Amino acid sequence: MEKSTPSSRSPNSKNEGGLASELKSVNLKRRTFLKNSLMAAGSLGALNCFLERDALADDEQKAAPLQFPKNFSDGSSLERMRVELLQALKKPVSERKWVMVIDQKKCVGCDSCTVSCNSENNLPPGVVYRPVPKQEAGTFPNMAWIFTPKPCMHCDQPPCVPVCPVKATWKREDGIVVIDYDICIGCRNCLASCPYNARTADFGDFFGRGTPEIMSYETRPNYEYSKDWVRKPGTEKSPIGNARKCTFCLHRIRVGMLPACVTTCLGGATYFGDYNSKHSLVHELIGSARVKRLKEELGTQPSVYYLV
Ligand code: SF4
Ligand code: SF4
Repeated sequence: MEKSTPSSRSPNSKNEGGLASELKSVNLKRRTFLKNSLMAAGSLGALNCFLERDALADDEQKAAPLQFPKNFSDGSSLERMRVELLQALKKPVSERKWVMVIDQKKCVGCDSCTVSCNSENNLPPGVVYRPVPKQEAGTFPNMAWIFTPKPCMHCDQPPCVPVCPVKATWKREDGIVVIDYDICIGCRNCLASCPYNARTADFGDFFGRGTPEIMSYETRPNYEYSKDWVRKPGTEKSPIGNARKCTFCLHRIRVGMLPACVTTCLGGATYFGDYNSKHSLVHELIGSARVKRLKEELGTQPSVYYLV
């Protein structure tokens, strides 16, 4: 995935100057606010951040999984993964290890995962959590397309974490790498340090920018991290100004639902589950000889596996 630049984010170039200065002002205000708060509140502020993180880490223990009809079973991989997800949720967070497996032989490059992810997370222009880069392979006439869906890899050794100056991003006990939008100051260090280009910055753009009215679908809340996040034009409220990336749909997992990209994959190529459950489908697939991970030589230990 190419790292997008502000000028590639908006189709409406006459607004670029205004957008860039808006964002600059958002970031400046955030930094000033953070600096002043830290100086004024001292250890109390740090304690508040800590408590907030604790709440983010624990609240799926309190969230009740959604109820499905008892006879809801079609014998498919999706149903197996859903049942396994519910079983994994009964374990303490520290005993789960969420992983994703993507079968490149099944992926047809339809981009439905990208679209459902954009919709689930109400993503603005320039922010994409799960692109599907396409590559030509072979030589004429024996050629083929290779599709490589690329969400955040939720690395076990994530280079994006130690570079964050305000500890707004961290790896949870279950392996999901999260960002606290209320702490993030939008410095974008993490974007630069991610070897998979999995993070993008929310510059506060809207698809309807420059039109008479921003449509309501752009200002409806998204539910990342199980909170309501509402983006409004002309405001600087998070997640505007923050780094953003795939969350493995943590807000859905907590209530017993699979990530959006898994449920909408037309090729049935995306699998998700708890690697620590020895009988899970993902555990079985990762035992395959076809398994590989991207840029393994970097030692990042991604939680996304590919069947090649
Ligand atoms: Fe961090 Fe990038 Fe790894 Fe995701 S893929 S955990 S953003 S380093
Ligand atoms: Fe941390 Fe990234 Fe936000 Fe900077 S942009 S504060 S590194 S999460």
